[in-house]
Order: sequence, then structure tokens, then C-alpha cells
Amino acid sequence: MTPIERFGHLGRSPVQAVDQGDQPADQAAADARVRRAVARLAAVRERTLRVRTARAGDPRAGHRVDHYVFEHDGGELRAVMLTPAGPPPWPAVLVCPGRNATLERVTGLAPPDHPGRDVAAHLTAAGFRTLTLDHGLDRWADPAALGGRDSGDVLDATLRLHGGSLLAALAEDALAALGWLDADPDVDGVGLFGHSMGAAVALHAALLRDEPVPLCAASHLGTYQTMIGELLAWNQYVALPSILRHADLPDLYAALSPAPLQIQYGTSDARLDPADAAAAGERITRHYEPGRAEVLRLPMGHGTDLAEAAGFFTRTLAKPAAAEVAVPAARVFFDVRARLDVLDLVDDALATGSLTLGPTGARLEELASREIGRGTAAVSSGSSALEIALRIVGVAGRTVLVPANTFFATAASAVRAGAAVDFVDLEPDGLGMDPEGLRAALAAHEDVAAVVPVHLAGALPDSLADVLALCAERGVAVVEDAAHALGSSLGGRRAGTFGRLAAFSLYPTKVITSGEGGLLSALGQDDLDRARRLRDHGKRSFEENLHGDLGSNWRMSELHAAVGLTHLARLDEVLAERRALAARYDEGLAGVPALTRPALSPRCSTNHYKYLALLPEGTGREALKRRLRAAGVRLAGEVYDVPLHRQPYFAGRFRDRSFPRAEAFAARHICLPIFPGMTAAQQDRVVQALRDALS
Ligand SMILES: *Cc1c(COP(=O)(O)O)cnc(C)c1O
Repeated sequence: MTPIERFGHLGRSPVQAVDQGDQPADQAAADARVRRAVARLAAVRERTLRVRTARAGDPRAGHRVDHYVFEHDGGELRAVMLTPAGPPPWPAVLVCPGRNATLERVTGLAPPDHPGRDVAAHLTAAGFRTLTLDHGLDRWADPAALGGRDSGDVLDATLRLHGGSLLAALAEDALAALGWLDADPDVDGVGLFGHSMGAAVALHAALLRDEPVPLCAASHLGTYQTMIGELLAWNQYVALPSILRHADLPDLYAALSPAPLQIQYGTSDARLDPADAAAAGERITRHYEPGRAEVLRLPMGHGTDLAEAAGFFTRTLAKPAAAEVAVPAARVFFDVRARLDVLDLVDDALATGSLTLGPTGARLEELASREIGRGTAAVSSGSSALEIALRIVGVAGRTVLVPANTFFATAASAVRAGAAVDFVDLEPDGLGMDPEGLRAALAAHEDVAAVVPVHLAGALPDSLADVLALCAERGVAVVEDAAHALGSSLGGRRAGTFGRLAAFSLYPTKVITSGEGGLLSALGQDDLDRARRLRDHGKRSFEENLHGDLGSNWRMSELHAAVGLTHLARLDEVLAERRALAARYDEGLAGVPALTRPALSPRCSTNHYKYLALLPEGTGREALKRRLRAAGVRLAGEVYDVPLHRQPYFAGRFRDRSFPRAEAFAARHICLPIFPGMTAAQQDRVVQALRDALS
């Protein structure tokens, strides 16, 4: 294998594909794909640095000097911080030095051995607090033991044996150091500088970071084919293993768009090919937002132009632009670890050929049974879980009562199971089914087979007890539509354990997803066994082809189960994050008195599937949404904006009926965006945009 082959083969780079116009012109999507590939290949852990020792050195050139030793779960990291004279806050730059640099020389504590080596000292003189990392190569090995090999290569080879890579390990350090600077109250805005190998580290840290960061990269430009294949065969660790299956070096730089970027390269640099670097630079600037990427061709060797670097950070950091924080309506969030877990399970399924009703589905059911507190079967969707439950109850030819304010699937599943539906209005204060309305509906229909309460928005109302009592009195089965409520509980009792049967959805917008999928939980083992037969064409057993029941194909594939199992295993984290976000909204919205919150039972622990608020009477929701969109904020979808008796499918039959509380609620409520990974800045933005729009 030639050195370059270890990195895979690139058919055509994402930048070229967009340039040639036969990829979605959506460059942002191509960039995001590159960033995701880097995240997967690097598989870094989020680390928090803790200061083990901090020692003040002698001030140099008017700068304060601090020597740090940090620790994190991966070990130890040394760094030197230089702080300019003058009062805080300072913009900060994280400096990732080149392969042969020492901390002392980069920070000006020892004379430079190379043009531009003392970059940290120079940036601090220009007003930046700098933190310079010691990448720690060459300290650990006896040169004789290296046998003429580069210590980085030896270390990289060792890490690869454990499924890692040196570049990823160094980028992980840099990312943690950036996080440490971010958290420093004396720091206002951070940038990244890297030289040579340090530029590769800085580039990858920037790609792995969620928030954009200005990057200045010196003496690291070209295509991997030329750089690794011809020039740097001796230090291949400047690229991630297999990266060329996804992108080349210019694609990686381009994927940083729209964050400010400066790349410097020297025309007499023996470690790059100036023609190759120029072509790469051109690809990057063409792909980048106009004017946001500077590629500087400089009369220098393998060095750094200090004045250009300082100028770049002065332009991009000195007055931190009022960050344009965009807030999407929702986000499906699987971190890199979760994605790799899914890939392992999918790989198992493909390798064994066990693609449906296999071990992963069984593990998902086991975990779901534990989380819900009842025996649970995995099925193809929340809708099929509802339909199976209603078929088990036996609703054909009879009436099923559902809330007027729910998703279409609640009622449609009953219709498909052969029932006629009627609706029940919302309770006066809250999101539950109105017990008085239910009493009236039970009186109006002698043939009610089932009632389907819906835990709207993830909340379980106190009135659920009255609904259950009325149903028990009449001997009517309760099937919970718990599609919104995985992880919620009322008085310590979990959603999905109140009715004879319950249905959960694992659709992508729900709190836990399998892509498509659903869960059905049952009180009785007989019901659970029947559900498992019904989902598989009513087959009496897996081995025999005897069909005792009219079921359908409502199975969940192993590939979906892989996603669902991985996500469900993180339920506690997901709930904790949603609850923290909701608590933060509670605080922020105290400053937006125009909005009111629907009353939630103090006995309810909700999963915050939706964070609801009620608009003042007479406020137009569509106009409000337009104003918020203009401010970069998208609201989540309502639950629901059209009540079922007004849905075209039902409207004819219910022309003369009205459910006034459901109608008023449908018209008046909004759902604030709430999703794992949401930042405090995004939440503040939502609150501010609402305050502006409603004042
Ligand atoms: C999502 C949802 C369903 C249907 O679930 P699918 O998995 O999409 O079939 C049913 N009821 C409610 C209330 C839902 O929100």
C-alpha cells in the first residue's frame, strides 16, 4: 500500500462536485456533510480541562506569563498563557504550534529558531491573550528507540491499533482548550492559529466545534495526494485515516465557511508544492463566502507571516460581531458516539443477515419495557401501535372516543381498525380530555369500545384519573396515545401504564426516535403476545406459516431498532437536557408577560416534548411566526393547529358540531423550539425575539 492509499480514494471532492453543478447547489449541506465525516472519523470525546497546576512566570515584554498543566480524562496537557497589559476582557487566540516547535520559542521565552516561530508573543503584543499548547511529541521516547522513525508516526501507529489517530487526539486537546478559553470570563471571543502540523490540528478543532471560530492556518495547504503522497510521506498523521473517502484538504478548509479564514503559504516552502497549494487555495476561496477567506501567497519558506496573522485576528476578533444566532424549529441530535454505536449495530445486522425481528429489536423491547414499566413490543410506527392496540380491544363496528385536539393518526388508526370515531373537547384549564365531555359522549353512544386519551405535548393531566374512572365504570377499555409522552409520568406513574394498552411513536420529531417506529405496551401478557402475532401477519409462531389472525406487516426492522435502541439508551440524558432547557425558558419568559403558560399538574413530570405558550387573545399566530422568522427564530409545529373535526377527512360528518375549547387552543398556542443541543444563546434569542414581537 502506498502512503496515500491508507487514506482512501476520493472520487471527486465535494468542492468539485458543487463547482461542477451536479450536486445540490446547496453548498452549506455539502460543507455540513464534510464536517460530519470528520466528526465520525475523529470520534473525539468532549473533554473538560481542569487546571492541575498554574505557575506564574517572569513577565516578558510587559506580558503576564502563566505556565499551566491541565488534566483531562485523556491525560495531561501543558500550555503557556500570555496576557497583554491593559484591562480585561481580551480577545484570545489558541496557538497550535508546528511539529518541531517548543513552547518556549513560540511564546518568546526563548529566542525563535525559525521565521515567525514566536507567534504567541507577537499576537499578545497585538492585544490578544494567547494560550499555546504543547503537543507533547518527542518528549516521551528515547531517540535511539525510535530507530530513525518520526515519533509522531510511531505514536500515530500505536493509536491506530486502538482505533484512534494522533491528529484526532491532538484536535481533541485543542477543542478542550478552546472550551476552557470560552469559559474564561476575561476572554471575549476566541480564534485559532496553527502552523504546519499545528495548522492541521487547528483546522480539525475548528471543524469539530459547533460554534464558528476564526482560523489562521500557516504553511499547510495543498491536496493530500501531493502533500502526503509526495512530500510528507514521513508524517502521515497530518490527515485523518480514511478521510479521502469523503474529502480532500481543500474541502476541509472550505467546510469552515462562513467562519473567517486566513491561509498563509510560502512560495519557497519545501514542504508544499506551490502550484498545488495555489490550486487548492483557489478552490477554497471560490467555494467560500465572498471576502471571508483570505489565501495569502507569501515570499517565505515554511513559516508564518506574523503581521498578517495579527491583522487577521484584529479584523475578526477585535469587535466580536453581534453573533447571528439562528434557531431551527427542531433538531434530531445523535452525537458522534451515538452514531458510531448505530453503525456497529447496523454492521452486525448486515454481517449476520438478521434484518428484522432479531436481537437488536429484542434488546430495544427489553430496554423499553424497563423504561416504561410494562411489557413492550416494537412495531413499525406509532400509528400501527395504536391500530394493533385497538384491534386487540376489538373496536370494529363500534365507537372509539378520542380528543378533538390530537394528531390525525389517533383517530385514523381507530377508523382503520373498523371503528367509528367521536370527539371529546379539551378540559377547561389544561391539555387533557374533558371528563364532563367524556361523560356526555359515553352517554350519547351505547357502543363505545375504547377511549384514547392523548398525553398532549408530553404532559399528563390530573383529569386523567377521572377519565380512567369513567371508563372503568362503563367497562370501556383505555388505550393511551402516549406518542408524545415517552419518559413522562404522573404522580410517579409512567405514561403508558394507565390504560390496558398504550402506543408510543418513535418518529423523528418525537423525544426518542428510531427513524420510523413505534412501541406498544400492554398490561396483560396475552395482549402483548397477540400484539407480537398481529405485527407479523397474525402468524401463530415464527416457525410455522399458520395465520390465526388478520394482522399485517407492522414489524420493526433491525436497522430501525439499531437507531431506536441507541437513542433510548440515552433517554435519561435527553430528559435531563430537555428539563434544563424548559427551566431556562420558564425563567426567560417571566420577562414576556404577554405570554401565558397552560396549567400543568404539579404531579406531572413531563418530558417537555413541546414547550407550549398561549398568545394574548387576538394575536395572529401566522404574523407572529413571520416576524420571528425574520429574527432567525423558527417555532416548532403546533399540537395541533387544526382540530380533528375541522380536518377535511372528518369535516363533512362533523359539520354541525363544535368543540370550542379545542378550537380556541388550536388557534392560540405556540410551541417554542426545544431540542437537545440547543444553546443558551439560542434560547435567549427566542425569548428576545418573542419579547420584541409581542411588546
Ligand atoms: C406522532 C403521533 C402519532 C403517530 O405516530 P407515527 O409513528 O408517526 O405513526 C400518533 N399520535 C400522536 C399524538 C402523535 O403525535
